[in-house]
Amino acid sequence: MLEQIADVLGSQEIGLTTVLDIALTALLIYWLFVLIRGTRAVSLVIGVIVLSFVYVAAQFLGLLLLSQILQTGAVIGLLAIVVIFQPDIRRALDRIGRTLPWLMAPTPHGATDRVAVQIAEAAADLGAAGHGALVVIERRTPLGELAETGVMVNATLSAELLRTIFLPRSELHDGAVIVRGEQILATGALLPMPETTQTGRFGTRHRAAIGITEQTDAVAVVVSEETGRISLVERGRIVRGLDGPRLERRLVELLAVGRVRPALRWPWRPGVRVPQLRLPLRGTDPEAQAHRR
Ligand code: ATP
Ligand code: MG
Repeated sequence: MLEQIADVLGSQEIGLTTVLDIALTALLIYWLFVLIRGTRAVSLVIGVIVLSFVYVAAQFLGLLLLSQILQTGAVIGLLAIVVIFQPDIRRALDRIGRTLPWLMAPTPHGATDRVAVQIAEAAADLGAAGHGALVVIERRTPLGELAETGVMVNATLSAELLRTIFLPRSELHDGAVIVRGEQILATGALLPMPETTQTGRFGTRHRAAIGITEQTDAVAVVVSEETGRISLVERGRIVRGLDGPRLERRLVELLAVGRVRPALRWPWRPGVRVPQLRLPLRGTDPEAQAHRR
């Protein structure tokens, strides 16, 4: 086999195209790994790699029956993968759409800064008062459908309003506040639960924040009713124990990236999945991921 590879390599001149080809393939593989990191697709990829090795070994040793079974299984498996991982594939395609940088134009800094300041101020006050809160900030994935699971508000965002909404006696304090631009779009929204496991030690509020940020590019701020601790969640990764100023800085960074002016929106974007409460499946620990970063 090594001789065959050497032949293939030897028979071709290594030109610029070959180097470009290899570089782009390496980049694609790297990007795929980054994309599936922390999702249930990791175990699938490991399984496929192991089976590929078994297949190569079966071919090498001339085990015809096993090779045949694996070949047939691969076709059925491919179909099964598409069906089982349909939501993940859709999310991956959505992410590709979002990473096209030339389609993105940050909103004026003033707007994001004001939003960050108001949310950070409210979070710090709510934490100090021991009031729980969950605020989801829309970026490129539209959260209109999700907002409709709650009560539409359409009010200018302010720290006072957030503090009022999350007063434990307020009728609207349960569920999540959805923020779009400088507006509070809705309160009391019901968020989807995450697909990763090992979120077991988090309560439902924190898990809901992980869920929505796994399924969309939104950023979530959680204030714990139990501990008063403030957490920031993005892409399913949770960073805990922030104070007001640190939250504000992180929010300014996160909101400056990935916002678009309506005129420049990417025309094809699959909408956010209709939220559905699900039991956690498999995956990795988002808190551990946050520390790894
Ligand atoms: P805390 O640290 O504040 O106690 P927690 O992560 O331990 O938070 P819970 O104690 O279970 O979570 O918090 C319950 C609250 O979380 C609910 O009253 C509700 O407001 C909110 N919540 C729970 N699930 C969801 C969801 N799917 N979508 C939006 N809000 C949710
Ligand atoms: Mg709790």
